[in-house]
Amino acid sequence: MGAVENVKEVADLIRKFNDIDLNRRIVNLENEVLDLSRDKRRLEEKVEELERTLKLRKDLYFYEPFYWMKGDTTPYCPRCWEAQNAAVHVTFGHDNNGNQAYSAWQCPSCQQHYYPKELRQYLIASATQGR
Ligand SMILES: [Zn+2]
Repeated sequence: MGAVENVKEVADLIRKFNDIDLNRRIVNLENEVLDLSRDKRRLEEKVEELERTLKLRKDLYFYEPFYWMKGDTTPYCPRCWEAQNAAVHVTFGHDNNGNQAYSAWQCPSCQQHYYPKELRQYLIASATQGR
């Protein structure tokens, strides 16, 4: 039996004495136990989240321009990982940039586009040609 159920049973017994001061104190105790129980759950969730992040930190490696995980052929968004420790798979699709459509990797979370290396070099060359 957990602490919450235990204290509730004791509170039910104490109420039979009809002692106002004792009732007030057991109600306070019940509330404190509930608060502690909620805090414990929150901390357990935080520990789980940190353990997941720690495992990902160990398993993800950077190979420009993405983060990768061994055995997973889909890369992860470097922006999301480096800014928020969020491992988000990028998807491959088309980006309508002005009148031209480019094939690019896109992050479904932060919407960042990543172009394949050859296309990036072409875009950089095109942008710097008029100088
Ligand atoms: Zn992202």
